[in-house]
Amino acid sequence: MIEGIEIVGAGPAGLVAAINLVQAGYRVTVYEEKLEVGHRFHGDFQSLENWSSSEDVIAILERFGIYNKIFRNYMCQPFNKLTVFDANLNKRVIQSTRPFFYLVQRGNRPGCLDYGLMEQALKAGVEIVFNKRVDKLEKGGIVAIGPRAADAIAKGIVFNTTMEDTAAAILDDRLAPKGYAYLLIHKGEGTLAACMFKDFKREREYFERTVEAFKKIFPSLDIMDPKEFGGYGNCFMGMPVFENDKYYVGEAAGLQDGLWGFGLRYAMTSGYLAARAIIESKDYEGLLKVNLIPMQRASIVSRFLFARLGNEGYPYLINRLTRGDTIEKLKRYYNPSFSKTILYPLASWSYKSRLVDKGCHEEDCTCVWCKCRKEVNHAR
Ligand SMILES: Cc1cc2nc3c(=O)[nH]c(=O)nc-3n(C[C@H](O)[C@H](O)[C@H](O)COP(=O)(O)OP(=O)(O)OC[C@H]3O[C@@H](n4cnc5c(N)ncnc54)[C@H](O)[C@@H]3O)c2cc1C
Repeated sequence: MIEGIEIVGAGPAGLVAAINLVQAGYRVTVYEEKLEVGHRFHGDFQSLENWSSSEDVIAILERFGIYNKIFRNYMCQPFNKLTVFDANLNKRVIQSTRPFFYLVQRGNRPGCLDYGLMEQALKAGVEIVFNKRVDKLEKGGIVAIGPRAADAIAKGIVFNTTMEDTAAAILDDRLAPKGYAYLLIHKGEGTLAACMFKDFKREREYFERTVEAFKKIFPSLDIMDPKEFGGYGNCFMGMPVFENDKYYVGEAAGLQDGLWGFGLRYAMTSGYLAARAIIESKDYEGLLKVNLIPMQRASIVSRFLFARLGNEGYPYLINRLTRGDTIEKLKRYYNPSFSKTILYPLASWSYKSRLVDKGCHEEDCTCVWCKCRKEVNHAR
């Protein structure tokens, strides 16, 4: 054993860091404030997007040491077909030999990503202390506490169904303002939600319209035993990611996809990079600048443009994305380019994370958003 590392938060970012560190011989303790992993999720499906890099995301998970011959203990179901609708419910079916995404499930049951990573961490020798909230890391370590403000929210249901496997999305500001509504079904389980980037106070109205819209599109959609869920995502830039011997990873560092909230890859990649920085005495900020920040900046520009499209513009985007090689086009949208570099100053000036209080970067922050998050946690 080399030395002890403390990690706060047993989400994907914290657990990927823990697994990599313990495998390198470190003594690792993870503190999790809840009684279990994946507490803020409810068995809902999420997509591990497979378009932002040439390397398949499964190969990336293998490289991170969290999906291999020994450990395939969480579901990673490839989806090669996606159906997209505009606000007039015009339909576009897109298919690809390379999966658009891999479906994962979030929560605390076997087969879920969070549960699988926890099992891997425990087997590798990580100590996980549950029911232990940590607000200060005196000796430094890794802060992986997830989002602290809601820049986007999702309101939805998980349910059972007899409908066949499906992945569908609707771009319509009347259902999910500046975001998208989605329906994911796999082996009799479904997740249906509205992911919105503004007007959060009317989330119920948007959610109800989303349910109606999907029922209209898919008359065979039977929703049995629905359970409501809600969640939020936090994307910000410009805060220190390494400060006072503390490495900030995942959404605690604001590392999120500003365009559509596909934050899982950001979380796991940053956890992996923080571990590499510690193991190999590398500059964590430098690693992020090469591996994640350019893409996050691109996502802020894409958000700036996407938010301006509205219901009139979405069909244009759908047309562009679905004609030809969709994955290649999405890759271009997700990666830096000359035009995005030009637009970035304007887009970043116009993008305002709700995390406005600079003091927020401390884990024991008492600003309005952190207090709000604590209240939400207490209410659960
Ligand atoms: C409804 C919803 C749908 C989403 N869908 C997708 C999707 O399809 N694809 C995608 O890529 N991303 C998606 N995301 C985003 C993705 O879930 C997040 O980006 C990812 O979970 C962030 O991981 P994390 O490890 O940074 O944080 P988290 O997963 O939030 O983990 C943080 C952990 O830290 C714990 N914690 C917090 N504070 C403390 C403390 N003080 N002491 C101890 N423990 C603490 C929490 O309990 C939690 O377990 C979605 C998010 C939501 C809410």
